[in-house]
Amino acid sequence: MDEDNNKFNRRNFIKTAGLASGVIALAGAAGAGLAAGSNKDSYTGWGRTAYGEDQFFNRKPFLVDTPTYDKVGETRRIAFIEDLFKRNGELSRLLFPRGDETPLWSFDEGVEKLPEPLKTYYLEHPDALGEFRKAIEKSQEQAGTWDKYKHKYLLADAWSTAHASPIGGQGAFPPQPHGNPEESDFRGVNEETLPLKSPAHGSSLIKQIAYSFGASLVGIAKVKEDWVYQGYMRGVGKIDFEVPEHWKYAVVIAVPHEWDSMYANPTYGTSYDAYSKLRFIAGKLEVFLKEIGYAARSHVPPTSYEIAMPPLAIDAGLGEQGRHGVLVTPELGANTRLAAVTTNMLLEPDKPIDIGIKEFCSKCKICAEECPSGAISFTDKPENVIRGYQRWNINQDKCFTIWNSVATSHARGCRVCLAVCPYSRKNNWIHKIVREVDPRDPTGLFSSAMLAMQKKFFTYPGGQEYLPAPDGNNKTFGEAPDWLMTEEWFNI
Ligand code: SF4
Ligand code: SF4
Repeated sequence: MDEDNNKFNRRNFIKTAGLASGVIALAGAAGAGLAAGSNKDSYTGWGRTAYGEDQFFNRKPFLVDTPTYDKVGETRRIAFIEDLFKRNGELSRLLFPRGDETPLWSFDEGVEKLPEPLKTYYLEHPDALGEFRKAIEKSQEQAGTWDKYKHKYLLADAWSTAHASPIGGQGAFPPQPHGNPEESDFRGVNEETLPLKSPAHGSSLIKQIAYSFGASLVGIAKVKEDWVYQGYMRGVGKIDFEVPEHWKYAVVIAVPHEWDSMYANPTYGTSYDAYSKLRFIAGKLEVFLKEIGYAARSHVPPTSYEIAMPPLAIDAGLGEQGRHGVLVTPELGANTRLAAVTTNMLLEPDKPIDIGIKEFCSKCKICAEECPSGAISFTDKPENVIRGYQRWNINQDKCFTIWNSVATSHARGCRVCLAVCPYSRKNNWIHKIVREVDPRDPTGLFSSAMLAMQKKFFTYPGGQEYLPAPDGNNKTFGEAPDWLMTEEWFNI
């Protein structure tokens, strides 16, 4: 850091710290922070909608006993043939059978030759058949003129195709690779690639598209060989391989776990709430990139990847690795789950950040104190050298035993270290101040004060207490949301 920057940061820190301490002292930070934390606008990455906050209109004054549709005669259920898509689907299967099969019906044969219930339906609704014929002709006409529009509407078309893919596709989404990456990652790629204005344009576009698919955070990194697994390649099997040349960049995306269930780890949380979101976002991004002419492969949790995510996300500027081995980001803390899409699109990579996580971790150690398995190191400084990189290392085997020791049987896991990490906080005013002030404090005093407050005002059940009896008491760091508490809804 240069001197000017240092001065700027100190000045900034002193100004903001003065303001912060005044505000904090006045308001009573712990209580006020707690209240602000329950404001649904602070639930980064899940938004108001996931909590019903968008259904804000008070309907009570307008409740009526009779629905506003008018019943004027004898009623009946809807026949499937009355549904436009089902009816048109039936007709399409007759007109355009799969493969080389001969059509089973043509418009020239007339309504009488249609099978039931189509025949009766169209005899009663002759205009509908004419309209369907017109729709088919229009669609064929448009397919013929697509060349005229395909450049102007390339992005809109790619974006909507990506959205439609999980619905139109067969089987799991995103589809898993088949064959080596040189075939698989290019399968379905648009033959034409328009000249990109610049790599910076590429990065901005891809980030915006990823946000629109639901990513909370997006960063771009060059793919480093060190982060690519060796010995197994999806779609090929157990092989040693060179990093494919077209894995030039990785678009790294992050989403949080649902906040309230995450705080109530291990019993009420699941990693899959974040994983399932990531699979959709990454899968759509893969389709989008292919649609605009680039090779793409999504790498998604829990196991469908060839790249280690945390170091890739560090390169992409999303955050830093904490003592617990999990990525810590300024926006989501350790409540950050990751996926990536590798591509040969020319992108401008982001730079890594340093917001002082390592320094904070060296004095915090809350995750190590709370870990039920004792898997997290207590050493002040990172002391392990892993494949040539120095960091804190967790004992994964011990951690896995705890995943299998918790009370809930599905989507087993623990995640206590994510829940207790002081960085895993919602986006309320007090954490906004802390987030801005702490990384600019060259003395470390601010973080020490915050940590002392954290340890004073938050209670932690402690290690084994998170486990079921006889080892523990199914304790959680935060209270479970009422919508996950069976006893609130059922007699048990
Ligand atoms: S997931 Fe649980 S057992 Fe594993 S390191 Fe974190 S706190 Fe420890
Ligand atoms: S709980 Fe504390 S020591 Fe552990 S990762 Fe978070 S900040 Fe670092």
